Amino acid sequence: LWQQLSAELKKTFKPVSYNTWIASVKPIEISGDTLVLELPSEFHLNYWNEHLLDPTQTILEELTGQAMTIKLRLPNQLTNQNQGQTQTLDNDEKAVYGHDTHLNDQYTFDNFVIGAGNYLAQAAALSAAEEPGEIYNPLNIYGGVGLGKTHLMQAIGNEMLRRNPDAKVKYVTSEEFTNDLINSIRTRRQEAFRREYRSVDLLLVDDIQFFADKEAIQEEFFHTFNKLYENKKQIVLTSDRIPSEIPKLEDRLVSRFRSGLSADITPPDLETRIAILRNKALAEGLEIDDQTLSYIASQIDTNIRELEGALVRVQAYCTINKIDIDLENAMAALQGLQELSAERGLSISGIQEVVAQYYRLQVADITGKKRTKNIVEPRQIAMYLARELTDNSLPKIGKEFGGKDHTTVIHAHEKIATNIKRDSELRKQVSDLQKLLQN
Ligand code: ADP
Ligand code: MG
Repeated sequence: LWQQLSAELKKTFKPVSYNTWIASVKPIEISGDTLVLELPSEFHLNYWNEHLLDPTQTILEELTGQAMTIKLRLPNQLTNQNQGQTQTLDNDEKAVYGHDTHLNDQYTFDNFVIGAGNYLAQAAALSAAEEPGEIYNPLNIYGGVGLGKTHLMQAIGNEMLRRNPDAKVKYVTSEEFTNDLINSIRTRRQEAFRREYRSVDLLLVDDIQFFADKEAIQEEFFHTFNKLYENKKQIVLTSDRIPSEIPKLEDRLVSRFRSGLSADITPPDLETRIAILRNKALAEGLEIDDQTLSYIASQIDTNIRELEGALVRVQAYCTINKIDIDLENAMAALQGLQELSAERGLSISGIQEVVAQYYRLQVADITGKKRTKNIVEPRQIAMYLARELTDNSLPKIGKEFGGKDHTTVIHAHEKIATNIKRDSELRKQVSDLQKLLQN
């Protein structure tokens, strides 16, 4: 299986990435739905958690045709430098490998850049770390993909451990919580599961929108939540939207979450994006002038993970070609970006086509100037989707919509983003379209 999987990975990733990050990985065991991989260093572990785990899991699930869990671990002699939560497999408690419980120590408040879109969430997060269980409990951080929810959440954990190294901190994604619970039931260790989750000082559950639809899991989580809450233990949750909008999330959970604070993170403005890049460049020891930084920042505006990806791309391009990082070379390096999103089937024109078809219009209506209501809204939806689902810059999107100004795109995006919050019919249409496009 590993051979098959690594062959797929080799096809998927560039040779440089494959050789650096994947070739040195050792398959340790596969049992049931769990594949355990051993990585040579902490550095690899971080990189895997950040960039490779999700795509690898997807490929693995495609290969096996079933839901799979990948656990990452370090060679034995390396594990003791982790945060003291590592346990061995034969322990009665559940087995925990790197990615299960460990915080990524790169995610701190120090390297979290504060900007207009995130300062409230940042402030709330810091308070939660300073006075856990006292002020904002639970704290829910919500917002779009790649905007720093996980970073902020883990920063709370890292900060709490810095202040009190004995604190018991547990970070899980909602899927890990789900898998843990299911495994504990299967192996008749539900007591251990409960003991583990109900004894923490800080519980961080990432991406709770994946609890939607899972009634039994929600039931267990409800009890975990109550136990911790009663004992004044801090709970932090993240989700891609406000909990009351998560479909099939039980009312009693939603109302529990309401008792705390919900803080949203919105996409960073240009200034914040530049600041993030500058920080990142500094941390990597790269010297990049302001003009180049602001060019890179202007290319990607809705997702910080992709913004960082763009910087890595520029860096790699310049290293490989042995040239300096300057504006011209950055432009050359990022030229392929648009094509990249096109490859994933998400070109602007593709979006226009799908939206037109969906509303029984012509593409020319979508890109045209007619102002009748039955056309204006689909057009705005198409712009909204182009902005949400592709890496194209605002001016580029405007241009592809019959040469409209980028402020028109911003307006359309805001309009739809606001309207889907209160109009469930519209919300359904947009999510239908999203599904159509992502298949
Ligand atoms: P999300 O969980 O919302 O999808 P992440 O927390 O994984 O997003 O963030 C994606 C990447 O962007 C991470 O590498 C994170 O460190 C970085 N990042 C996000 N927001 C900031 C910020 N304000 N300052 C610095 N880095 C950030
Ligand atoms: Mg996240």
